[in-house]
Amino acid sequence: MASGDRVAIIGGGVTGALCAVRLAERGFRVTALERARIGNGSSSRSAAGIRAQWGMAETIRGLRYAEWWYGQFHEALQTPAAQRQPVMRRNGYLFLFEHPEAVEPARRADAVAAWALGQANLARQRAEGVAVEALAPAALARRWPWLDAERLIGAAWGPEDGFLHPHIIYGEGFRRARELGVEVMTETAARGAQTRGGRISALLTSRGPLAVDWVVNATNAWAPRVSRALGGMELPIAPTKRYLYHFEPTQPIMSPEEWERLPMMIYGMGPGRGAHARPDGPLLLIGGAGATAPEPDFSDDDQDAIRDGFNHAVGIENAGYDLLAQLDDFAPALANCGGLKATTCGFYAMSPDGSPLIGRDTRLANLVHAAGFSGHGVMHAPVTARLVEALLAGDAQGGAVALPEGFGAIQLAAFDPARDFSAAPVESAVL
Ligand SMILES: Cc1cc2nc3c(=O)[nH]c(=O)nc-3n(C[C@H](O)[C@H](O)[C@H](O)COP(=O)(O)OP(=O)(O)OC[C@H]3O[C@@H](n4cnc5c(N)ncnc54)[C@H](O)[C@@H]3O)c2cc1C
Repeated sequence: MASGDRVAIIGGGVTGALCAVRLAERGFRVTALERARIGNGSSSRSAAGIRAQWGMAETIRGLRYAEWWYGQFHEALQTPAAQRQPVMRRNGYLFLFEHPEAVEPARRADAVAAWALGQANLARQRAEGVAVEALAPAALARRWPWLDAERLIGAAWGPEDGFLHPHIIYGEGFRRARELGVEVMTETAARGAQTRGGRISALLTSRGPLAVDWVVNATNAWAPRVSRALGGMELPIAPTKRYLYHFEPTQPIMSPEEWERLPMMIYGMGPGRGAHARPDGPLLLIGGAGATAPEPDFSDDDQDAIRDGFNHAVGIENAGYDLLAQLDDFAPALANCGGLKATTCGFYAMSPDGSPLIGRDTRLANLVHAAGFSGHGVMHAPVTARLVEALLAGDAQGGAVALPEGFGAIQLAAFDPARDFSAAPVESAVL
């Protein structure tokens, strides 16, 4: 890197915001482009959970670092004292696992496999220094008496995990970026590129050309389209709609204090499971995978379009009630204490192995992608920014990027956009 290199970051979400800050701190001259307004994409539509409970070592390590980084977010961004609102709530993440004897015979093998994988992940997380515990059914019943403990074989509990406030991340991120001299251009779309010798010399934007030394594609679900428009590689990222359901309790089953402290709970893993819920003010936010097909050419309006079969307001034959039925199997008192009030949605940018694509383009040497977050881009943003910084500044030693002391290093190969997806380990804890 030459200090003072010009970088264009495309995308005004959490990834663009934290990359802009890092690169400006490092002496790059940064312009951030957003084709609509800041927070136009998935960053404002997220469940915003953060956890270090993952399956792959690189992800566990990166998220352990991200949890630490978000813990000192305002110090890092030098937020003015009067503006400091909490960016993270450490309510914890609780993965519940079903007892194979408690499920119907057809699902028994899945319950056995889910518990085995859960325990293997726990061992990997502990080896990386994550504070995770295995909780037995009796302990679960004592702590959350409305859980059906007879359903459970155990749980994985991460007390350092929790939820984030993305609008604070991108709001404060771009505030700090501007303070560091970053030019933030909204309503400015990247449309193409002038190239010379396998490099982008100018980014073509809706406001004219921008001379660049580097381009960062931080457009997540839009990233394949943006890469194509610039003449970059094909990115295997599938924009896939995900819905969130907002549940309102009408007959509270716990005190307001207990409600406020509820962790993100994952109601079983494996086929037909994965419903998860966490408190959001007085409501419970419920998420989970539904049968949605990729929408590679989605429009901005499609982000909020609620398709047939997903809108809870038209009856109980929809994905929202399927998720509620999963909760009902584990926590009938909770699932029946109120009803679904609203449905919202946005796009996941799914990669084939559930891990992001962070690294250099194979066709254009000065194009770096940071996209394909597969539903965990908000929590990943601090480590994404560190990796992008290392790629541009040439920090990687033997392909590894050092994190601050005590957090280890990340192998860039794990996130290489050109990795062999048929051979790459699949992130086992993607929900
Ligand atoms: C329902 C749901 C639940 C989720 N839950 C979680 C969760 O619990 N935890 C978690 O960590 N993550 C979660 N995610 C995922 C997370 O929201 C995303 O991974 C993250 O917000 C991606 O941020 P980003 O900045 O990379 O992309 P985005 O926020 O999508 O920003 C990309 C930006 O690029 C802009 N853009 C596109 N094309 C161009 C162009 N040509 N020129 C200029 N700008 C352009 C867009 O307008 C957009 O603003 C969830 C997502 C959804 C939809």
